[in-house]
Amino acid sequence: MRPFEYSVIMAFIDNYDFELLSNQAEQLVLEELGRQLEVYEGAICLCNDCVADMAAMALNNVKPFYRFSLLGTLYADKAMEDEEYADSIRFAVFAAIEKIRKNPSHD
Ligand SMILES: [Zn+2]
Repeated sequence: MRPFEYSVIMAFIDNYDFELLSNQAEQLVLEELGRQLEVYEGAICLCNDCVADMAAMALNNVKPFYRFSLLGTLYADKAMEDEEYADSIRFAVFAAIEKIRKNPSHD
């Protein structure tokens, strides 16, 4: 990208407030991860590297759920009423936990 184009893009980004744009899937995955990890207590590494890797892996395997709103939490709860979406979150979290359990993020 040429310098001119870059500055135009940066000006565009600076001209708008994208702070309230967020992927609600992140909250849903983190909540589900917390729930599922309780079952594994003592049987799995819960260091920050492993748990953050589980979250990243699960998030890469679920459909993003972007919203632009102050009411993010309400929208997130709504998304879980969609059984198919809720199942996809639960399964992605389960698969990520199992993958990291078998291959921890460190020796
Ligand atoms: Zn670990």
